[in-house]
Amino acid sequence: MNEQWMTFANEIKNLYEKDFVPLHEPTFDETEIDYVTDCVRSGWVSSVGKYVDRFEQELAIFTGVKRAVAVVNGTAALHIALKVAGVQANDEVFMPSLTFIATANAAMYLQAIPHFVDVSEQTLGLDPLKLEAYINEIAYIQDGQLINRKTKRIIKAVVPMHTFGHPVELDSLVDICRRYHLALVEDAAESLGSYYKGKHTGSFGITAALSFNGNKIMTTGGGGAILTNDDKIADYAKYITTTAKIPHRWDYEHDEVGYNYRMPNLNAALGCAQLQKVKPFVSRKRELYEIYSGLIENIKGVKLFKEPINSSSNYWLQTLLIDDTYNRDEILDFLNENGVMSRPIWTPMHELNPFKDMPQSDLSVTMQLKRKVINIPSTPFKKG
Ligand SMILES: *Cc1c(COP(=O)(O)O)cnc(C)c1O
Repeated sequence: MNEQWMTFANEIKNLYEKDFVPLHEPTFDETEIDYVTDCVRSGWVSSVGKYVDRFEQELAIFTGVKRAVAVVNGTAALHIALKVAGVQANDEVFMPSLTFIATANAAMYLQAIPHFVDVSEQTLGLDPLKLEAYINEIAYIQDGQLINRKTKRIIKAVVPMHTFGHPVELDSLVDICRRYHLALVEDAAESLGSYYKGKHTGSFGITAALSFNGNKIMTTGGGGAILTNDDKIADYAKYITTTAKIPHRWDYEHDEVGYNYRMPNLNAALGCAQLQKVKPFVSRKRELYEIYSGLIENIKGVKLFKEPINSSSNYWLQTLLIDDTYNRDEILDFLNENGVMSRPIWTPMHELNPFKDMPQSDLSVTMQLKRKVINIPSTPFKKG
């Protein structure tokens, strides 16, 4: 590693005024303390309370969807988003191999089959052109359903994931889903505050999932939400995430196997405070992109990933793309040893033990990106 990399590490530490810079930290002020205190004082910290309803309403407004249903985490949101979109046991679900494991796990919880497809270098997310060519090669339409020629299983849904906040090409995907009878379920866990052609990510499909884990752009401690524009789907999602209990003042009757996935009021209180700041967080992350652009100018063979065309990204995690003259692990060792926390992209799903026998297309871009991507500290930058 050369001097330029040492300078780069030092400049990041100066920027954050820290000897060790974490990858992503939550940002709080008095608002969070006030709301959480109010919640604790009220006694309503658990499964009932005003903050859950308020958080759901404000989230729906923020993302421009009809309804939001708050749940315990993003993985649970994905599980239910897939279920209420109609995914059943033995259905196949197209998804990127280049994602966090929650996307694939959620399909497995429904006894469905993740079917891994490749991503685009322009978006880091599902490549619609490659997807359509692949569909034409391996599947056919029969009675309004897409069938995998080889396995004879129904391919029911597509789950694009907006990697590090960068929107995939949603127009093309929406069109593919319509023509091939596929349900579009967006994994928008990383893309709160990201827009495609002026419309918020997570509002394009039948359903979408958000995450409010501690490392995401905003946090509820742990939490997630299902988004939808369909009232019936929203009502059903609410119902099965609250144990499928028939509303009654004192009686307990449940008419199917539901889940206890509801977000506690205490977490929703934190969420109401954080949601007010997503816009400023996003603009500071976009400034951080400009700052990093300047810092890497002198380093050969390194690019900073820029938001795709037609989109406005939240830049949740800043992303370096290194060329093949570098060894990814050497750079990761160097940065982490020198006080700059950084990480590689996830090990692709098709290389993980639980998923290695799942159906998959050519994944050459996925494998290239695995060697190239390094995420660097991305906490909203504090000025002066
Ligand atoms: C964070 C994340 C999730 C959900 O994670 P939880 O920790 O369960 O909230 C799902 N998919 C992706 C791509 C994520 O980054």
